[in-house]
Amino acid sequence: MIFHIFLERKWNTFGVLSKYKLKKIIENRKLYGIIKYGNIGGMIRFIKKGTIKMALVTTTEMFKKAYDGGYAIGAFNVNNMEIVQAITEACREENAPVILQVSKGARAYANHTYLVKLVEAAVLECPDIPVALHLDHGDSFETCKSCIDGGFTSVMIDASSKSFEENIEITRKVVEYAHDHGVVVEAELGSLAGIEDEVNVSAEAASYTRPEEVEEFVAKTGCDSLAIAIGTSHGAYKFTPEQCTVNEQGILVPPALRFDVLEEVTRRLPGFPIVLHGSSSVPQDYVKMVNANGGKMPNAIGVPEEQLRKAAALSVCKINIDSDLRLAMTGTIRKFFNDEPSKFDPREYLKPARANIKELVRHKLVNVLGCAGKA
Ligand SMILES: [Zn+2]
Repeated sequence: MIFHIFLERKWNTFGVLSKYKLKKIIENRKLYGIIKYGNIGGMIRFIKKGTIKMALVTTTEMFKKAYDGGYAIGAFNVNNMEIVQAITEACREENAPVILQVSKGARAYANHTYLVKLVEAAVLECPDIPVALHLDHGDSFETCKSCIDGGFTSVMIDASSKSFEENIEITRKVVEYAHDHGVVVEAELGSLAGIEDEVNVSAEAASYTRPEEVEEFVAKTGCDSLAIAIGTSHGAYKFTPEQCTVNEQGILVPPALRFDVLEEVTRRLPGFPIVLHGSSSVPQDYVKMVNANGGKMPNAIGVPEEQLRKAAALSVCKINIDSDLRLAMTGTIRKFFNDEPSKFDPREYLKPARANIKELVRHKLVNVLGCAGKA
């Protein structure tokens, strides 16, 4: 669903007017109107037809600018209203483009329609920033099709666990359908290492993306962006303490990402947008907050932010962040319950949780992704 634009930004008040009369005003001025009714009269905001500025967009232009500008777009997972609001408010204030992504689990939890409508509401509230709605880890053609038909502007087909040939076949099928409907496609080559994989060195080695496959894969599938595996992983436990070194302050430092793989992929696919999954940094302040307030998350470790910044300056145009938002929300709520055991109004604990997610997202936009001011 692509909205066309807007442009009188201010809300104009109106007195008691019939809906019919308002409709006429809108028609006469060749405008779309968004109306908020009050008890007597209300507010109207006019949207000019065809002035093209905004709304749900694909990632094509975002990625092009990000690639050329040496920054990355944040792809944040959304599951409920507070998370959508926190992310988009930070992006609006920092004037940053954003990808809101929905996983299969999010659709199962919140329902496709609720999520799409929440995102559309965010677009109306943030008309000056580009917002893309993306399916994270689509596992089949059917899942992708249902999101393409249901208002998404971008989908990921993740057939990375299949053989190279099957991955190409499934991805190409999704690309054909998506492109016919004006939607872009992210695909994946190589599978992200998780802790279990990393115990076995050969399994770990096998999970990295093989640069020698990327040209054929992109040429045969026609995908618009490619997720690669260079040592990031999903979840809050990306590395075991044994894999880390200890710095002078006694803090665990994870092994470096495989920038050699990224550079080789970039050399083979010049100008092509690369995606990093599993790129939360697992802020230790929030891990401590969780653990100090009844939680149990020992040895939660993420990807150092400097490494993500470095990747963003190269060909990585989309960086996925989910666990950090969960940690900010959970840490904040745990602390609230500990500090205020008699409180039971969900708004009272969701409000500081939302505020902390917003500040975390702002930090990512400004200091990690480099996309602040790029809307
Ligand atoms: Zn992922």
